[in-house]
Amino acid sequence: MDVLQSSGLPRDHIAYADLIQLCIKRNAAAEGRRIHRHLSAAGGGGSPASLFLCNLLLGMYTKLGLSSEARQLFEEMRDRNVISFTTMIAAADGEFLALSLLVRMIRANVRPNMYTYSSVLQFCSDLRLLKTVHCPAVKAGLESDVFVRSSLVDGYFKCGDGDSGRAVFAEMPTTDMVVWNSLIGGLAQAGDAAASLALFGEMRRAGFGPSTATLTSLLRACTSVAMLETGRQVHGQAAKSSSDLILHNALLDMYCKCGELAEAETIFNTMVSRDVISWSTMIAGLAQNGRCRDALVVFEEMQLTGFKPNHITLVGVLFACSHARLVQQGRELFLTMEKTFGIRPAREHHGCMVDLLGRAGQLKEAMKFIMEMDCEPDTIIWKSLLAACRVHRDAGMAAAVAREILRLDPDDKGAYILLSNAYAGSNQWGDAEEVRRAMKERRVTKEPGCSWIEVGKKTHFFIAGDKSHPQSEVIERELERLIRRIGGEGYVPETAFVLQDVEREQKEELLKYHSEKLAIAFGLMNSIEGKPVRVMKNLRICGDCHTFAKMVSKAVGQRIIVRDPVRFHHFVGGECSCGDYW
Ligand code: ZN
Ligand code: ZN
Repeated sequence: MDVLQSSGLPRDHIAYADLIQLCIKRNAAAEGRRIHRHLSAAGGGGSPASLFLCNLLLGMYTKLGLSSEARQLFEEMRDRNVISFTTMIAAADGEFLALSLLVRMIRANVRPNMYTYSSVLQFCSDLRLLKTVHCPAVKAGLESDVFVRSSLVDGYFKCGDGDSGRAVFAEMPTTDMVVWNSLIGGLAQAGDAAASLALFGEMRRAGFGPSTATLTSLLRACTSVAMLETGRQVHGQAAKSSSDLILHNALLDMYCKCGELAEAETIFNTMVSRDVISWSTMIAGLAQNGRCRDALVVFEEMQLTGFKPNHITLVGVLFACSHARLVQQGRELFLTMEKTFGIRPAREHHGCMVDLLGRAGQLKEAMKFIMEMDCEPDTIIWKSLLAACRVHRDAGMAAAVAREILRLDPDDKGAYILLSNAYAGSNQWGDAEEVRRAMKERRVTKEPGCSWIEVGKKTHFFIAGDKSHPQSEVIERELERLIRRIGGEGYVPETAFVLQDVEREQKEELLKYHSEKLAIAFGLMNSIEGKPVRVMKNLRICGDCHTFAKMVSKAVGQRIIVRDPVRFHHFVGGECSCGDYW
């Protein structure tokens, strides 16, 4: 208010400005429109006479999400300045609009400022556009501005041109925390955790203290590809720096997602303070790593310490019940969660229940549960029932469920594959073939199984039957040696898991080179004494690879960990933590 008065604006402008701010704060669109109409009438029709008030109205419309009204006012305005253009650019709904506004602005001789450029840069999702905007920003002498810089660095990384991003960074006359963070975050998001970690070291040497935001984004990068060794190094840095809760939660999550529960538990037990996220992460981490009963103990502890679970915590607890086959306990929690914790079961909780019943082989109950749900079942819920049908060999129900899924999403690859698997599993080869034909007609292709493993600070990727790895021949020889070795101990490939109806030898050939087997063989070739072989996979592990991993863990006396999209398998001495139930 004082600022406005001293800016020499007329008194009634100030009153209107207050009213407009109030409309924004109260989300009052109708009142905002009334003020606009009133001002227009006072200005003799058309748009309000004052540019200052017009800009405020523009800001109000964009903040309230009324973009067509903002645009109409913008077009009617007699005069437009850098604020008018920048407001519109920041609220643009796509790169085309943002850029055409920038062009219009330059043509109208209105000079863009650093906010204009950093807003435009948010929209540049392809490299050509980004370079187009980069150029005038340099000409305007704004390139050295820290906002523009960090948007440029961000932009180049998002477009996949890390080299240009680094170049913009390197040319900087002065470095700034914001830009360091952009660059480190950019590298981390691009999956280059090692490079971002190296840069982080440089940042420290340049005299910048570690920011928890940077460390957290580094940890998230390590978590997403499960780069344990790199994550450990970040942990080393983090330990020295702070007891920040968000950072510690990220560390906890990283260790859980890498299957290193002992370390996760150490972090959890030594945390100075915990919030509901810490508890939920620990519970879900234990459950996904097959320590379901421990997860339930932590859940009890959480309640004893006076923490209230949220809806994510309960998803983890139900997951634990489901994977530990604690049907009764899970059902009770589900039925009482609203009364006890004030959390109404959402779709995810319903999904857990379907999974719980399905895993326990209570397929009819699971189906009945879905039919009686008060929310529409989605494809995820149907799919978990479909997987249960496959494990418990109920081809009839599987067909019905898959049809439901395909009704909701006719292009769902998973439904075709699961349906086809269900038929194949019960030797209905004709039906399986028909599903495959339908799949071909709709041009649905199966997502290839891909496994990856971190060896020597590098992540190595394997796809079934793919020979692109430089050592592929050696790896295949090692794999065959392993298969022969466990063959002597009774390993027989489980062909029912293969999709196609092919001759027995061919089936075995296909199974032999599943990506997780290649990754395990490669991991064993490069294993370090006392450290487990840790493999990640994009799809569920198949039954045959599961048996293979169990027998190999015993034969070579090595711990093998396989993470699939939902859970971990810890193979030790011929046994798996999942108890062969996944
Ligand atoms: Zn397999
Ligand atoms: Zn397992």
